[in-house]
Amino acid sequence: MSIEKYTECLKQYFGFDKLRPFQEKIIKHLDTDILVLSPTGSGKSMCYQLPAVASKGVTVIISPLKSLIEDQITQLKNKNINVAFLNEDVSKKEKIELLKKLKNVEDYMLFYVTPEVILDDKILLLLKDLNTEGLFARLVIDEAHCVSTWGHDFRDSYLKLKYMKHYIPGIKITALTATATPIVKEDIINILELENPHIEASGFFRPNLNIKIINRNDTILANLRDLILKNYNDQSGVIYCHSRRETERVSAYLENYIKVSHYHAGLDQNIRKFIQKKWLTGQIKIIVATIAFGMGIDKPDVRFVIHYNLPSSIEGYYQEIGRAGRDGSPSDCILYYTYQDRVFYDNLFKKNQGNEQNNSFHYDVTMTNFDNVEFLDQVDENKEHYQQYQTNKLNEMVGFVENIIDCRHSQLSSYFGEKIEEKQNWCNNSCDNCIRQLDNNNKLEERDMTSIAEKLLRIIREYKDDITKYKLRDIYQNDLNNQLLSNLTLTRLINKMIQYDILEEHIIKQESGFWYEKLIINNNINNNNIPVIKMIIESAKYSLSDFIVSNDIPEQNNNIKEDKNKDILKNNIDIGKGFFANELMNDSLQEKYNLTHLPLYNILINYRNQEAKRLKCAPYRIFNNLSLEEIVKKNPTTELEVKNIVGIGEAKFREFGKDIIKMVKNQIA
Ligand SMILES: [Zn+2]
Repeated sequence: MSIEKYTECLKQYFGFDKLRPFQEKIIKHLDTDILVLSPTGSGKSMCYQLPAVASKGVTVIISPLKSLIEDQITQLKNKNINVAFLNEDVSKKEKIELLKKLKNVEDYMLFYVTPEVILDDKILLLLKDLNTEGLFARLVIDEAHCVSTWGHDFRDSYLKLKYMKHYIPGIKITALTATATPIVKEDIINILELENPHIEASGFFRPNLNIKIINRNDTILANLRDLILKNYNDQSGVIYCHSRRETERVSAYLENYIKVSHYHAGLDQNIRKFIQKKWLTGQIKIIVATIAFGMGIDKPDVRFVIHYNLPSSIEGYYQEIGRAGRDGSPSDCILYYTYQDRVFYDNLFKKNQGNEQNNSFHYDVTMTNFDNVEFLDQVDENKEHYQQYQTNKLNEMVGFVENIIDCRHSQLSSYFGEKIEEKQNWCNNSCDNCIRQLDNNNKLEERDMTSIAEKLLRIIREYKDDITKYKLRDIYQNDLNNQLLSNLTLTRLINKMIQYDILEEHIIKQESGFWYEKLIINNNINNNNIPVIKMIIESAKYSLSDFIVSNDIPEQNNNIKEDKNKDILKNNIDIGKGFFANELMNDSLQEKYNLTHLPLYNILINYRNQEAKRLKCAPYRIFNNLSLEEIVKKNPTTELEVKNIVGIGEAKFREFGKDIIKMVKNQIA
């Protein structure tokens, strides 16, 4: 059927004039199996609804979520589309009626079923008959990640769908999912036995999310507090930390100023439910949580997601920031980064490898999507591979954070396999990297990377297409004859080559049952058509330049006044998306802000950390921040003055009093 014919149907049944580009691509591949990877709300359902109304026969749609199906059915019925829904709750009589209708289908029909129901013998037989008569149009499997035991949402009933191609020979399948890691993707293809499927990844760009990454330093808690008080007054948000203890610590600090609560998997289930409900109903605005928080929660008006620590994978990060701005309104996603977090994970992964108890449990940092028990059993036999896998995922995340050149949104979309057309300011000022480059001082320097790309291809050939991204990078870097490049630049180049279809990443299942991702040179590229490579690389070269070769992320602006002077950008550009609006702080907040930015405050914080370490307790158990602020404000130098500071009595004076006086005297001297 021609595109014109589909466009006609689109207008007639759905009232739209045009398909989105990715929907159009899918329509062109209806003669094969199709796998659609696309987030919720991107227009995925049109990829099967339109072909369904345009084809003769029954399109069977399997979906696990009854309430979602019911919504869709109501919408379709309003459009006078011929649709039916069979689930466990349908009475025997209704079922007979329904099957009769199905049997006598004349034109087209969308037939929705839950996975449990489709495996009913009678129904399978009927579908088989329809298929023989040429009246089975297509099988659609929504939420297809439910077939994979690697997914977070695995369902038994879905696993049985693996026989569908055997039950009804010759059928074409469209599988759709919003949450697929590369492994889950491969699993879906294997389990459903999709034959050379056309894979379409699309819709990962969320234009209303403002992404920003900030260097984390010792004053992070104060910065966080100021940020929230200044920009998100009375608005909902989530702050993600990497450990349970960290959630408690951050929340204890913020509680002094803001209504917050911490949340992690170690809390009693009833308490967790209680907190969740309070947050959903707006009684608590902010949750400080581990990744245990958020699965299946759909709150539309979350205005910010802050990562206090580095997430352990891009998949996890994307899922977590995806909880912001579901209502389409501008929302901020801020990640505080320090390299120490990377070290933290490295240690954690190593510990997990030993015989110690599973630490990820305490930290709630099992890979997102990988936290079911079944998976952990497999891990036992494959610890080494698992550790490598985790490390690779972490490397990707660090690479994303440290790449301060390419648009953050375009980086994320291409990570998920979406083929995007790269251009400057791709996201229209919705990320720190694009905004930074609007400044003339930050203009990128162009550089042709063709010869390095060729070199990389030569290495891949030498290794006969059996090499991972990381190995490729290491081999290049270890060869002293090669032009010196930063890891960042080299990684960017390799990623670009994947993005521009020069390289492909294939997931290979090893005998041990584990996967690894190896690089393969695209069939169209061989020794003879280096010019093709040249062309492709050159067209992308503005973003291949070696802009900053270090781990440096631009310093966070710790001082508001300095911020205004230094960051001309923010004042000149109308960002218009609530991105750190320069509202004035009220007086008491301003005072707090000033106090916490005096040198003495930092000295006291360091002292507190050091004592906390020595006494093996949380820093706020030594002094709370109010005490510190008062010390900075009053500069006490006598025993009486120190004892009068809020939160410091006899006992604390005995232990820390002399040190406090010494630090104050040193500062005011
Ligand atoms: Zn951008």
